[in-house]
Amino acid sequence: MRFDVAVVGLGGMGSAALAHCAARGASAIGIEQFGVGHDLGSSHGKSRMIRKAYFENPAYVPLILRAYDLWHELEREAGEELLRITGVLAVGPENSKIVERTRHTATLHGLPLEQLSRREIEARYPTLKLLPSEAGVFEPDGGVLDPERAIAAHARVAEQRGAELRCDVAMQSWQPTSHGFEIHLSDGSRVDTRALVLTIGPWFKATLESLGVPIDVQRNVQVWFQPSTDVYDVGRFTSFLLDRAGLPAPLYGFPDFGAGLKAAFHGAGELTDADRVNRSIDVSRDVAPLSAALEQWMPGATAGLRGAKACMYTLTTDHDFVIDRHPQHANLVMCGGFSGHGFKFAPVVGEIAADLALDRGTRHDIRFLSLARFAT
Ligand SMILES: Cc1cc2nc3c(=O)[nH]c(=O)nc-3n(C[C@H](O)[C@H](O)[C@H](O)COP(=O)(O)OP(=O)(O)OC[C@H]3O[C@@H](n4cnc5c(N)ncnc54)[C@H](O)[C@@H]3O)c2cc1C
Repeated sequence: MRFDVAVVGLGGMGSAALAHCAARGASAIGIEQFGVGHDLGSSHGKSRMIRKAYFENPAYVPLILRAYDLWHELEREAGEELLRITGVLAVGPENSKIVERTRHTATLHGLPLEQLSRREIEARYPTLKLLPSEAGVFEPDGGVLDPERAIAAHARVAEQRGAELRCDVAMQSWQPTSHGFEIHLSDGSRVDTRALVLTIGPWFKATLESLGVPIDVQRNVQVWFQPSTDVYDVGRFTSFLLDRAGLPAPLYGFPDFGAGLKAAFHGAGELTDADRVNRSIDVSRDVAPLSAALEQWMPGATAGLRGAKACMYTLTTDHDFVIDRHPQHANLVMCGGFSGHGFKFAPVVGEIAADLALDRGTRHDIRFLSLARFAT
């Protein structure tokens, strides 16, 4: 059978791409080397932050607004809650990039954002310990996505729309044919397809580098703690970002949804490779610095250790994504380099991937995510 589109890699982005391709009525197949919702790539760990006032680059705002709508559509179709609004509190010194640029983006796009002094933050969250120079902003629309359930929901919706899923089989190679591509799989079978979407996360490094896009794969550890108090429970506490001098990287975390309070440094791990990433946890190296930073910021947060998992960032040099067609093959769409902040965009990335694979163009402005920016 020849498919209209094959999506290779069914993590956060690929599961969404498959659902959106199938929604257009295309015959679609999804190929995943592991199972749906596995914990070996970049999309595991039960929580991913979503926010609108994007400090990284205001150009993402139209995409994130569309993503919110699409997450809610997916929730309706899947019949489950995937996004919980908790608010996001960002704290740092007055000249903090995170606080300053969050404010800038909110003003530019007219997004709701509260400016909070140190005293106002301490009044709202009395256990928090701020430094005298720190202040912050609170984004009421910020929240938390459940990545494993979101991937399962996209995959399920894709199947309900007629897509075929092939798990536990890897793409070994692809080659162009007169009508599209022939994909060679690790079980010896082949798939014929008119268009190909590659959403292979940290396994993209070699392919992107062959096109002149330098990629670093970075190991990042996420840790779950048992607080000694209920003040950090969901409903009482917020998701947060802390930009504080002396930390290895900004600290972020989520309220306790019942399985512990999750926190991590945003981009502080060693560089690695998807096939040889160290998945074992060394408490003194992976947990202790995080636990010390958390205790200084939110005392009582780390009374017990509940678990920790390594995950991978796929970093481009400017930390912006790559969403584009292959320069030599217009019907090969590449979505990668999500640089540790991509999950919240998954459904809009899926929509764009379907646009590019099936319609050859998209109404979304993704020029800032093009391959061409690396040409110089
Ligand atoms: C610790 C951590 C915290 C994060 N926090 C946030 C956050 O708060 N908010 C946010 O928006 N983002 C966050 N991110 C980033 C976000 O999770 C990623 O950008 C996103 O999950 C990337 O999705 P992906 O589909 O590109 O990669 P993956 O989910 O890794 O998917 C790639 C898939 O391709 C498959 N694959 C690879 N090669 C092949 C092959 N040859 N054949 C078949 N299948 C193949 C893999 O098995 C995998 O399933 C975080 C990331 C990490 C690691």
